[in-house]
Amino acid sequence: MKRFCLSVTFMLVAASATAQQYPNRNISMLVPYAAGGPTDTVARVTAQAMGKPLGQTVIVENRPSAGGILAPEQVKNAKPDGYTILIHHIGMATTPALYRNLRFKPLEDFEPIGLINDVPMTIIGKPQLPAKDFKEFLEYIKKNKDKVSYANAGIGAASHLCGMLFMSAINTDFLTVPYKGTAPAMNDLLGGQVDFMCDQTTNTTSQIKSGKVKAYAVTSDKRVPSLPDVPTLAEVGVKGAEVGIWHGLYAPKGTPKPVLDKLVAALQEALKDEGVQKRFSDLGATTYPPSMVTPAALQKHLKAEMDKWGALIKKAGVYAD
Ligand code: ASP
Repeated sequence: MKRFCLSVTFMLVAASATAQQYPNRNISMLVPYAAGGPTDTVARVTAQAMGKPLGQTVIVENRPSAGGILAPEQVKNAKPDGYTILIHHIGMATTPALYRNLRFKPLEDFEPIGLINDVPMTIIGKPQLPAKDFKEFLEYIKKNKDKVSYANAGIGAASHLCGMLFMSAINTDFLTVPYKGTAPAMNDLLGGQVDFMCDQTTNTTSQIKSGKVKAYAVTSDKRVPSLPDVPTLAEVGVKGAEVGIWHGLYAPKGTPKPVLDKLVAALQEALKDEGVQKRFSDLGATTYPPSMVTPAALQKHLKAEMDKWGALIKKAGVYAD
């Protein structure tokens, strides 16, 4: 009994010493989608800014999969030592309702770190589309519904959710082409292989500004300051497809509290940085205030979003296996 107590004490002391030394090597931030896409962009800005307060490099590692379901599973199964963390968006809240066999539980398998930012989406079309504005776009896609294709990042992606809401709002279905992220989807859109998609402004702003794609609407309730000429869906008469894509940071369940505290502090520090806030706002994103960059705020938001989207998705009867 005495020996057991001694070894437990030893293990606790060793764990707390390790937590105190944390971090003494690079940290991996896993991204569920392809490099060069919107989630990747948010990850890279956040990771770089967190590196400073942590005193170590935060390396972005892309683990792309359709629907973004692979990275959360890998982080769930990673050693809970703070060296593997996950960045994810609203998909963390929608996938439980969309997948019958999801191999992670968002509310139970992770330690939430904090909310990052909120990003509107844009409905954009390939450069060759003849439609000049939303009205013409709607007429065109409805008239050509049998040959028009919609690109997304797989079931559970933000682009999937937005497409689902949009198609239901305009009462028309299109052929859907899934990718492992909207970076490759954007390449095909620019090449004219697919016709339209709905993607975060963090991926579409520069393409819209340089006139490489056609922008028809934003999914926020107000216009996006960095894209002042693009109307909201409500302005063009489409109801029920408003959606904002929030991002959060997570560690595996069981990560020691002192390690988590350091990650929370580093994320808060990173998001207070004016350069980070400007970079996000130039891309149409709104950085969360410090009161939301906490484990409690993220867990609460995640739960509320799971309840909200879960109910809507169940009603729509959309499933993947
Ligand atoms: N925008 C993608 C989505 O639809 C993800 C990505 O490629 O970052 O969720």
